[in-house]
Amino acid sequence: MEIIHVSAECYPVAKAGGLGDVVGALPKYQKDLGHVAKVVMPMYRTKFLRDNQFEVVHKGYTHLNDYWFNYTVIKETTNKLGFDLYLVDIYGLLDREKIYGYGDDTERFFAFQIAVVDWLAAWKHHPDVIHVHDHHCALIPFMVKYCYAYRQLQNIATVLTIHNGQYQGQTGMDKTVYIPDYDLYKRGLLEWGGALNPLACGIRSAWKVTTVSPTYMEEMRHSSMGLEPLFEYEKGKTSGILNGIDTVVWDPATDRYIEDHYDITSFAEGKQRNKAKLCERYNLDIRKPLITFIGRLVGDKGADLLPQVIEDSFYYIGRKMNFMILGSGLPEIEGRLQGIRHLSRGDYNTYIGYDEALSHLIYAGADFILMPSRVEPCGLNQLYALRYGTVPVVRNTGGLHDTVIDYGDPGGYGIRFLHASVQDMTHGVWRSVELFNQQEMMGEIRQRMMQLDFSWEASVRAYVDLYERAKRGE
Ligand code: ADP
Repeated sequence: MEIIHVSAECYPVAKAGGLGDVVGALPKYQKDLGHVAKVVMPMYRTKFLRDNQFEVVHKGYTHLNDYWFNYTVIKETTNKLGFDLYLVDIYGLLDREKIYGYGDDTERFFAFQIAVVDWLAAWKHHPDVIHVHDHHCALIPFMVKYCYAYRQLQNIATVLTIHNGQYQGQTGMDKTVYIPDYDLYKRGLLEWGGALNPLACGIRSAWKVTTVSPTYMEEMRHSSMGLEPLFEYEKGKTSGILNGIDTVVWDPATDRYIEDHYDITSFAEGKQRNKAKLCERYNLDIRKPLITFIGRLVGDKGADLLPQVIEDSFYYIGRKMNFMILGSGLPEIEGRLQGIRHLSRGDYNTYIGYDEALSHLIYAGADFILMPSRVEPCGLNQLYALRYGTVPVVRNTGGLHDTVIDYGDPGGYGIRFLHASVQDMTHGVWRSVELFNQQEMMGEIRQRMMQLDFSWEASVRAYVDLYERAKRGE
């Protein structure tokens, strides 16, 4: 089967979060199963672009309403990622450093999607599946089905995966003029709640819709920023498929970002050595449990609660633990986390910014990783943490619910709490300290975690099964 993934992110080309990790790994594992999997994404001006070789494979000319533009598709020549990677360049729109965050993101991603579909229409053969990811690419199922110029693509199965339903790409209905001539009877599919809503349109137009965990799909029916009735109505074609992790990139025995490697037989010494590095670099006390957080500093991740949790933990539990925070996001959260640095007595530090290498060292050296997410479609941090023998302390939601069992339950290995509240989180910190002090149990739990299999194989099979059902019209 031939699958083309269309995405705004793909690790290591450009990554802002979990979407990048997933699109960088899923095609690789699909290829391992004998399928042809390709990725197409915008040609941002990232380091990857400068460091690698490319060839031009297509040049086209199309338009965003009355703005006609040239686009170029280039292909990475060495198969460095383990699959064919195509980048689309549109002068003036995609030739930027960052992935998102520009005032004209709507125009950028509309133009990208139009260029992709235009390019696909020029292929001599058709792929079996067009698999689009998140709202930036969610108009493609509509375009291939209803735009007159691309009618030859209408029999290709389309699949939309929602990595984060909080972001839907809403914009004014006046922007529908950007979409190449389409069957006007279908205009209603573009609109949701009075706006042009790409994600809603994708949910209605794609042949199959997935989210990145079963529980998150269930949650979307009850709470999805206004899309609840849509998820209920389209129930028949939706499902949740848990993300896997790239076990080559994320393996404490071979991780290229860390120096002290370890595996299930040597985790005690291995983790201790990584912890020592981390504690030395960030002035922390190696004897205390190291509780960490890695991620976007935004409300969805519960990051706004961290400063108070740290203060309350020191006050109510005592100076029995270290905290180390790595993240970037809302300036007020960044500021508060930096502002409480003065509280540290060698037991708190933070690095504000994005640092891939540091994240690996933290997974390897930390004892616990906090994930107080209000919303967590799948969550990768806890999966990496499990593989590195770092106990996840998580709110019981979305993918966290599907992947972390509390160590108090049979076969459990993590710490779960119910609410994204300072009290529940602080209680989680207290339980972490208690667990850390029971070294034998901690060792057993680490061993149990490191044996878990969250590799892509099972998920890839589920995706292929889904593609097959889509093609059979089931
Ligand atoms: P998201 O909702 O942000 O996609 P995920 O848990 O799915 O959350 O994925 C987050 C990914 O981004 C993980 O690989 C995590 O290690 C990485 N990450 C997040 N913030 C940072 C940071 N500041 N520095 C390094 N890596 C980060």
